[in-house]
Amino acid sequence: MKKITLLGFALVLHVMTGVAQPLAKKVSLEQVCNRFLSYVKIESQSVDEPSATSFPMTDGQREIARHIYEEVKSFGGKGVKVTMSDDYYLYIDIPSNVNKQVPSILFMAHMDVSPEAPGTGIKPVVHSNYNGNDIVLSGGITISPNTPQGAHLKDLVGKTIITSDGTTLLGADDKTGCTVLITMVEEIIKNPKFKHGRVMVCLSQNEDVGKAALRYDPSVFGSKPDVVIDVDGDTPDKFTIANFSAQGQTYYFKGNKAHPSRGKENRYADALTAASYFIGQIPPGIHPSQSEGEEGYVHSYYMQHPVDANGKVIDSDYVIKLRLRYFDKKEGEYQRQLLANNLAKTQEAFPFVEIEKISDELQYENIAYSLPSYVPDIIKAAAHKAGVEMTTRSGRGGTTSAMMVARFPDLMPGGCDFYSGQQSEHSCYEWCCVEELMQQVTIVENIITGLLEK
Ligand SMILES: [Zn+2]
Repeated sequence: MKKITLLGFALVLHVMTGVAQPLAKKVSLEQVCNRFLSYVKIESQSVDEPSATSFPMTDGQREIARHIYEEVKSFGGKGVKVTMSDDYYLYIDIPSNVNKQVPSILFMAHMDVSPEAPGTGIKPVVHSNYNGNDIVLSGGITISPNTPQGAHLKDLVGKTIITSDGTTLLGADDKTGCTVLITMVEEIIKNPKFKHGRVMVCLSQNEDVGKAALRYDPSVFGSKPDVVIDVDGDTPDKFTIANFSAQGQTYYFKGNKAHPSRGKENRYADALTAASYFIGQIPPGIHPSQSEGEEGYVHSYYMQHPVDANGKVIDSDYVIKLRLRYFDKKEGEYQRQLLANNLAKTQEAFPFVEIEKISDELQYENIAYSLPSYVPDIIKAAAHKAGVEMTTRSGRGGTTSAMMVARFPDLMPGGCDFYSGQQSEHSCYEWCCVEELMQQVTIVENIITGLLEK
């Protein structure tokens, strides 16, 4: 993690104003702070209803969308389109102001906050000129630079830190991303001399319950963006360029009870043994316990009796669920083929059991497959100009962009997950630093400028 000392940061800012095509009207620290505070005070927790077929939405989620919609409308801007969808997603579309072909860019963040920690009665606390000590909150929580939750505080002595009062989360995930992007939008609109290609922003809902891609409407922007960046990361000096592809499969084993002593005669369909045989053919070498780095795995994690429409357990049948995870496309093909072969062998071995694959869903796609090759260098150069050295990483998990690519393979390229300024997300320890939000605004603007050279 790069250390940004007080002196170093001041120097960097000074250099930036000379070199990096600064915007005449920079939004002040106080304004950025107030914007962030206005967002976190709106309690926009999403609700986790895994079985819900609808798209759950809380009043707070609607309120934050309306708040930001009105805010962006108030900026004006020639040709700028602001749309709030029926699902309370916000879409901001800023047309290019240059006469040449420049890659278009879509930035994403999310307006909901996690249901994993208390989220009502949020009272943000601003710690100006942070002194480097433990931050003791009235709710009985201490954020210390000597613990993982506060480790990054060491780099931020003298800066403006925001926490909750310790009884709730803060909403740093991802109100920081919203603050960075809306500040960027304001600066672009208020500085017509700032040259840029087409810039799009989508603020989504229900990201923290894994559903952000579900109601994204690609028709609002109307065409496929060339570059996508998701401003929702928690690591100042890293951005993702690859992640697991994730596929979920569910199989139904329909049995038929009979006394085993006359099993053949009575066409005994033993769903338990058949399902076990199916799972047992998965080589132990691709079990999650054998997988690390960029190695994938196949994981059978659920085997239960189904229930009928009246809630009655069907004890002759079994449902099993599997996770397929892989970075490499070929590995994914191998995993799918393996399970198809297992299925055929199991069906042959247990002809009386009826086996059906009842669902097969690609949940994440590896962003690396469709990430334009020039993007990582543009991000690194943009950060470097702002005094931050960023490196790439790959994640054994999914991101919003990975869900978008899985859902809209022809309409979305893979996008990097990029630091928003959030720390210790999904907990009462959440915090952020206002100067870092401003720095991220500068970096995203540098990315936009960097695309002019493409
Ligand atoms: Zn997030």
